[in-house]
Amino acid sequence: MSALEVSYECCTEIPRMEFVCYLWFSFFKYMILHAHLNGSEKGTHYALDLGGTNFRVLRVHLGGRRSSILGHDVERQPIPQELMTSTSEDLFDFIASALKEFVEKEGDGSETSLDRRRDLGFTFSFPVKQMSVSSGILIKWTKGFAIVDMVGKEVAGCLEQALTRKGLNMQVAALVNDTVGTLALGHYHDEDTVAAVLIGTGTNACYLERTDAIIKCQGLLTTTGCMVVNMEWGNFWTSHLPRTTYDIDLDADSPNPNDQGFEKMISGMYLGDIVRRVILRMAQETDIFGPVSSKLSVPFILRTPLMAAMHEDDSPDLQEVGRILRDVLEIPDVPLKVRKLVVKVCDVVTRRAARLAAAGIAGILKKIGRDGSGGLTGGRRSDNKMRRTVVAIEGGLYTSYTMFREYLHEALIEILGEEVAQHVVLKVTEDGSGIGAALLAASHSSQS
Ligand code: ADP
Repeated sequence: MSALEVSYECCTEIPRMEFVCYLWFSFFKYMILHAHLNGSEKGTHYALDLGGTNFRVLRVHLGGRRSSILGHDVERQPIPQELMTSTSEDLFDFIASALKEFVEKEGDGSETSLDRRRDLGFTFSFPVKQMSVSSGILIKWTKGFAIVDMVGKEVAGCLEQALTRKGLNMQVAALVNDTVGTLALGHYHDEDTVAAVLIGTGTNACYLERTDAIIKCQGLLTTTGCMVVNMEWGNFWTSHLPRTTYDIDLDADSPNPNDQGFEKMISGMYLGDIVRRVILRMAQETDIFGPVSSKLSVPFILRTPLMAAMHEDDSPDLQEVGRILRDVLEIPDVPLKVRKLVVKVCDVVTRRAARLAAAGIAGILKKIGRDGSGGLTGGRRSDNKMRRTVVAIEGGLYTSYTMFREYLHEALIEILGEEVAQHVVLKVTEDGSGIGAALLAASHSSQS
């Protein structure tokens, strides 16, 4: 396939597909993209990436030949906690200011660089009802965001209004989510890329599907016959997925109960808090941690990177585990035997998360006939030769948490079998979600 096809159309139907591990996989919605990235995109392009604890502003220099990204600059900033539950105006004004500062640093920062009208790629990784390539309506918040006035509003419009307030002459040329941006970049570099998976603060995936395998798109013509399906897999749920009391309590206490069930078992926002809940119960029901520390009742006090640091503590007396229990959870003098137990809890929680994510990836490969079986929707069963298959992958949990990554790889090999798994490459695309959005913006503006 020489070009990634991207066109937007919203489907309200909730189709179903078979999910490896005997689960049924329900799509939350489709986002279907149809446009070209043909490698001829040129010049300097900007993108904004908002979708978790940090947001990024990016500048990408394109050389006009396939895979010729001449360079890119990125600046990351944490989203202040209070802005996650404030107003859309506060949030977008903050982002627009950061973008303005970033744009001003281009070249000599002279006024002309602000005067020129620019197209912007906007990666907005929350469930959106896509209205066009450059617009969409926020359906709901996830990952701890809860800005009530924003739900039901057109996202690109809110951003553009803030850009105007800040005196920036920019328009959103492509509104995508992080998985679609990651797939766009992955495919730009490597045409064997068929899917993208994000495992950071939250989790989601998208994949390339044959248009004729999408019921809603029967009869729709695209030049490559393929489309991108945004799965919103964080919202996958099935009664076959065993939930513990910790999962049930975490969900009930969250700002979005009964939502994002898969995400709450997998992603970085939640794993540390599951571990905290287990330790709290152990402390309440036994005396192994001494008197119950009040810190154990503070939601999200045990962040996932801290949990990872305990899990990966390789010192003989588990010093880091002892330090985090003492300094963060205010549980002093925990004996080695109990520290080992804490490591075991981290291990179980992470292993479960990684295996679920691997099952999701294997489910995609099965759906598109890249699991070695010929596939569920028209993979040619007579053609047994497994093609090289690349899955672009991004997100802090996957890239920074070694044990998580290893468990995910192990499970994928277990599910697919070694012979098939050797043809499947998980390729990290750093900042792919933002760079991909800049590429799509470039592609869209060059077409219009
Ligand atoms: P985003 O917030 O946009 O998803 P990232 O993809 O960088 O950004 O993911 C950040 C998330 O990754 C954090 O919220 C955290 O849960 C997780 N994370 C980051 N570093 C680590 C680490 N060293 N160990 C475990 N998890 C980590």
